[in-house]
Amino acid sequence: MSSNAQLFDRAQRTIPGGVNSPVRAFRQVGGVPRFIDRAEGAYMIDAEGTRFIDYIGSWGPMIAGHAHPDVIEAVQRAATRSLSFGAPTADEIEMAEAICKLMPAVEMVRLVSSGTEAGMSAIRLARGFTGRDAIVKFEGCYHGHADSLLVKAGSGLLTFGNPSSGGVPADLAKHTLVLEFNNIAQIEALFAARGPEISCVMVEPIAGNMNFIRGDAAWHRRLRELCTEHGALLVWDEVMTGFRVALGGAQQVYDIRPDLVVMGKVIGGGMPLAAFGGRADVMHKLSPLGNVYQAGTLSGNPVAVAAGMAQLRIIQRPGFYDRLAATTRQLMQGLDAAAARHGITFRTDSEGGMFGFYFADTLPRNYPDVAGADVEIFKRFFHAMLDRGVYLAPSMYEAGFLSAAHGPDVIAATLDAADAAFAQIGQA
Ligand SMILES: *Cc1c(COP(=O)(O)O)cnc(C)c1O
Repeated sequence: MSSNAQLFDRAQRTIPGGVNSPVRAFRQVGGVPRFIDRAEGAYMIDAEGTRFIDYIGSWGPMIAGHAHPDVIEAVQRAATRSLSFGAPTADEIEMAEAICKLMPAVEMVRLVSSGTEAGMSAIRLARGFTGRDAIVKFEGCYHGHADSLLVKAGSGLLTFGNPSSGGVPADLAKHTLVLEFNNIAQIEALFAARGPEISCVMVEPIAGNMNFIRGDAAWHRRLRELCTEHGALLVWDEVMTGFRVALGGAQQVYDIRPDLVVMGKVIGGGMPLAAFGGRADVMHKLSPLGNVYQAGTLSGNPVAVAAGMAQLRIIQRPGFYDRLAATTRQLMQGLDAAAARHGITFRTDSEGGMFGFYFADTLPRNYPDVAGADVEIFKRFFHAMLDRGVYLAPSMYEAGFLSAAHGPDVIAATLDAADAAFAQIGQA
């Protein structure tokens, strides 16, 4: 049996950083990433046989818990009928109908294989529909790694964006305008100055890629009004919040209707499946109906659709989200109380099965608030919890996730670990 350290060593020889997605490398927290062998319910088991309570849930998808028997059975049944056809299936219609039923803003939908692909395609569609090039995004929101979306703000509000990744042409980045999350004055000023150039405003309604930050309801309402007024499309990236903060996603929480919605994570049940959809008149612009091209060899893959549909059936059971949200709140209250017992400055927030915690005395409202937090204390807490069998996201820029398999015993074990972890970091 190889240890995590041996595997990490070996991985780094053939895989850049030893990982196939950067945050898995534990760069922010230091130490050796755990190589996972299997997972069941609320637990992940690593290559050394150590069991962890899992609060990342594959970064969101595993809302029913790991290896849920219904999902596994659906995958096994689908797999015996071949893994891919490259031709339409009845099951993908069922999934499209389910998404349109559950997501108020989605009248038509197209399935793809990753959130990145869905976000990139939604932007192309918004540009094709409006005939405009500029897009607006918000600092700290992540919409996948497409070129136009890896852009940070320039120095001033109305300056061109600068790429935040190597390999992104400045010529492309200049069409991405980046504003501060939750700032009404900035978006009003931008629309006043450059309204006719803006194809879409893309936003995570509740940001989950800079820890967990709620968009203010008033800010979201203003984004909706400004887009309508200026003929721009409002694109909600619900890859994380969709089927996660509520059955109908953040659209249900805020009662706001975006023009386009980007989805992923939960709808695939852990398989590579994502989607984008929205207003029928906009979706009619997509190839083969319209002139905006978009395609995928494995789009609507039958095994992924089977996994996703099995999970969508589970989350539609009565009381699923009430129980999930109550458990998540209970965990947050327990963490707050444990931190308070040990005199640690700490805040939490959650919606549905998604949460954030912060070593600060107020909830963050934007990226600079999160970036200003104490990373050292976060690191110590992360490792103190990991040592006690609780696997939190290895970065303070990520949200946390619960599943329906996180029962009272799991929460109690987590809070025992937290009490000891806060005691340990309080002494440092
Ligand atoms: C995860 C995520 C994406 C990217 O999805 P991938 O499947 O990783 O490409 C896009 N937007 C948001 C909000 C996400 O959380």
